[in-house]
Amino acid sequence: MPFIIAIDGPAASGKGTIARALAAHFGFHHLDTGLLYRAVGAKGGDPAVAAQTLDAEDLARPDLRSAEAGQAASRIAAIPEVRAALLDFQHRFAAQEPGAVLDGRDIGTVICPDAPVKLYVTASDQVRAQRRAAELGADPVQMLAELQERDRRDRDRATAPLRLAEDAVVLDTSNLSITDAIARAVAAVDRARG
Ligand code: C5P
Repeated sequence: MPFIIAIDGPAASGKGTIARALAAHFGFHHLDTGLLYRAVGAKGGDPAVAAQTLDAEDLARPDLRSAEAGQAASRIAAIPEVRAALLDFQHRFAAQEPGAVLDGRDIGTVICPDAPVKLYVTASDQVRAQRRAAELGADPVQMLAELQERDRRDRDRATAPLRLAEDAVVLDTSNLSITDAIARAVAAVDRARG
């Protein structure tokens, strides 16, 4: 049976970096599920149809990492038909041997509720805004407002909102180096694997 690592958390919390590092460390597949929603938002047209017809080319668009693409993603991510259309792909991805790391907002709560390891990666709003501003070359104050608006939308939506799974390990990366954050995540997975 494949081993699944579910990682959730707000925008720019460091979950993507940790997910990639865990996948490399354990030799698992990695899916950044945010990219699916970003690609649906960027595709335009009817979001449910865009989600149903999503292909590799959509996922390879160069503009998916922008703040605008993040905002568009969080708007269409509230539509239940969009989420339903992306379920099957995520489940099939998670079923790959020897294991998979999926990061997003609803992995431990909805997509893979039985995952043996769930991490909830978070950081203070200020730290997250500074990180994302540095990454995108943007203004930290504007970034803070953008992240807070997106988090609010992701937490308040009716379908698969961002929330802490009961059995998740919380990893606050506000005061951690990348190396230390990854080391803690690896230790949490090692504990779960026995
Ligand atoms: O993780 P990332 O910032 O790329 O995600 C973009 C947006 O996609 C999020 O703000 C959220 O609205 C949506 N998303 C989601 N469920 C996921 C992953 C992302 O709703 N599993």
